[in-house]
Amino acid sequence: MTESFTAAQGSDAAQVTPATGRAAELETSLSALLQRIDAACVAAGRDPGEVRLLPVTKFFPASDIEILYHLGRREFGESREQEAASKVAQLGHLSQIRWEFIGRLQRNKAKAVARWADTVYSVDSDRLASALDAGARAALDDGIRTTPLRVLLQVSLDADPERGGVRDAALLALADQVAASESLQLAGLMAIPPLDVEPDAAFEQLARIHASLTTVHPAAIELSAGMSGDLESAIRHGSTCVRVGTALMGARPITSA
Ligand SMILES: *Cc1c(COP(=O)(O)O)cnc(C)c1O
Repeated sequence: MTESFTAAQGSDAAQVTPATGRAAELETSLSALLQRIDAACVAAGRDPGEVRLLPVTKFFPASDIEILYHLGRREFGESREQEAASKVAQLGHLSQIRWEFIGRLQRNKAKAVARWADTVYSVDSDRLASALDAGARAALDDGIRTTPLRVLLQVSLDADPERGGVRDAALLALADQVAASESLQLAGLMAIPPLDVEPDAAFEQLARIHASLTTVHPAAIELSAGMSGDLESAIRHGSTCVRVGTALMGARPITSA
């Protein structure tokens, strides 16, 4: 009797106790972040339904992603191939999860990423686009994926090749190539503003580039801009997808990646 009494008490306690520890922390920061995004939309005169939150979970464990999934999130942004692949394997039981690859991608990793990513945000060269197309075609043939790989082109807003991104002058040719690729779907643009430029100026420039792209490729409606520090500015300038790590997950370990 003592044993079952203890067990019953234990399960009652579990039912009445609110989420604690990391779950409570993420629930609080997620609701604050969603309010912040809504407020930014209202301030910009936009419908909050037009701006999607992509939680960026790089450096954080699969258990955090599982918590966010149970809080209703379905898409997660990762930027390092090996780390992402390990989380994909660990979280295969979350049937509606979608993975989005937002980091710089080496061509020799394209085939692996094309097996599990719904979307790649960082396509900036014809060679990377070809490698992803081949990878996505193989994954479609194998039945590993059922839809084309969605692609956002990463636009360079400065001349620094280290930061990645295609220059404005080469953008249309790359967009044409992706749009013509059988296993890719051109979804839109992404950019990270240069550190030494006002976000408003950078996002305004990006919005102009996006407007000219959609005159040629009207389906490329996604404009992924805005992170923890500058999402209000990005939303003012037409962002459809903010990629937020720190403001949701907390600080990442210091790293150059
Ligand atoms: C890490 C990362 C983010 C998130 O940045 P925060 O400032 O932590 O919100 C967004 N986009 C890309 C491409 C990233 O690599």
